[in-house]
Amino acid sequence: MTITAIRGFNDIMPAETAIWLHIEEEARRIFRSYGFSEIRIPLLERTELFKRSIGETTDIVEKEMYTFTDRHGDSLTLRPEGTAPVVRAYIEHKLYKRPISKLYYMGPMFRYERPQRGRYRQFYQIGAEVLSEGSPKLDAEVLEMLMALLKSIGLKGATLDINSLGCRACRPQYKEKVKKFLETRRKVLCENCLRRINVNPLRALDCKSTGCKDATVDVPSILDTICNGCKEHFEEVKRHLSAFDIHPSINPRMVRGLDYYTKTTFEITAEGLGAQNAVVAGGRYDGLVQDLGGPDTPCFGFAIGMERLVLIMKDKEFVREPLLFVAIFGGSEVEMKGTEIIKELRDLGFAVEREYADKGIKAQMKKANKIGASFVLLLGKDEHDRGVVAIKDMKTGSQKDVKLDEIVEVLNKELSTIKKGE
Ligand code: ATP
Ligand code: MG
Repeated sequence: MTITAIRGFNDIMPAETAIWLHIEEEARRIFRSYGFSEIRIPLLERTELFKRSIGETTDIVEKEMYTFTDRHGDSLTLRPEGTAPVVRAYIEHKLYKRPISKLYYMGPMFRYERPQRGRYRQFYQIGAEVLSEGSPKLDAEVLEMLMALLKSIGLKGATLDINSLGCRACRPQYKEKVKKFLETRRKVLCENCLRRINVNPLRALDCKSTGCKDATVDVPSILDTICNGCKEHFEEVKRHLSAFDIHPSINPRMVRGLDYYTKTTFEITAEGLGAQNAVVAGGRYDGLVQDLGGPDTPCFGFAIGMERLVLIMKDKEFVREPLLFVAIFGGSEVEMKGTEIIKELRDLGFAVEREYADKGIKAQMKKANKIGASFVLLLGKDEHDRGVVAIKDMKTGSQKDVKLDEIVEVLNKELSTIKKGE
């Protein structure tokens, strides 16, 4: 019997990784220009870290974590998200001694969910966190950076929803209100939400079941309950966003699936994804660093769901790096010259493929065609003796002899028209 991958765990195949790389490269370039540096956090953490940060009564902690006991008897968990590990590292390495930390990460997360389009058990996130800045200007700037990234990769029709979840001082009042409201809807709530009325009533607003969704449409708005400080902060975020010409929808029902959020929270949804339409989510988490044993530190962050972005981008026209094929035939001297040319082209950054076996021109052309080479450089005994290679454009079929010292110039010219899509 053949062995297949585990359910919800995907192979990302070469045909797709070009899009992944493109998104990751754009993210790195843009994040750098906003002052971010990369942090690489482990895949495994102590289970306690996620329990204490995400919250004991959230879906993630209650039923989605890959948790096991290691040989030493410690309870470890494959990271279901990146914020808690970043905060753990921030405290552990005393980054709070710096005026501000802007960190980003990329990599797989693990959640035991029901696999479906856009929802997997191993999925990739690109996340960014700003630690030690409470200004609403920062919230707006990070959102603007995100929009810039989505625009640069050509994502259209993205919608930004924002909300404020208040702070430690005012959220308890809202929780109380929601609790009272849910009591009046007991008959229609799902079992999970019934159980949570007393422990974590806000979770009912994030429940995916239609019954709970319908039952909570007229829940009191959190924006009527938050304190003046939080209100003012939220107003400032909106004002700074509009200065960037960003006009979000206000969604007072959006509570997010993790308990650590405070004040600004947001979600970016895109068309073409069905039910799993959130591509980015995040917000402020001003209390988390302190909860995990560090100093009082205001923070803001987000995570992009890579698979969902790629799903939308996949249907789009995407210009891949062109590939060259050097076909060599005609004895050992020609072979040596051909190998030299390949090496030179590779050193200059061209992607070059070749045939390793002793095969004729026909077989080599067939291979070049199959692997999707844009141009083939033909070097036979005849070309070698004349000091040229024949460059064949695989799209048009046209072919011309080019002197050895003009190869690079000709290729650059031809390839630049390909990249421009001409
Ligand atoms: P959802 O409401 O779709 O379950 P979430 O609230 O659990 O999302 P976050 O934990 O905030 O999502 O993660 C941020 C982003 O990561 C999501 O917007 C989504 O794009 C992506 N994401 C989350 N869970 C998965 C998953 N199981 N498979 C693929 N992508 C995911
Ligand atoms: Mg989820």
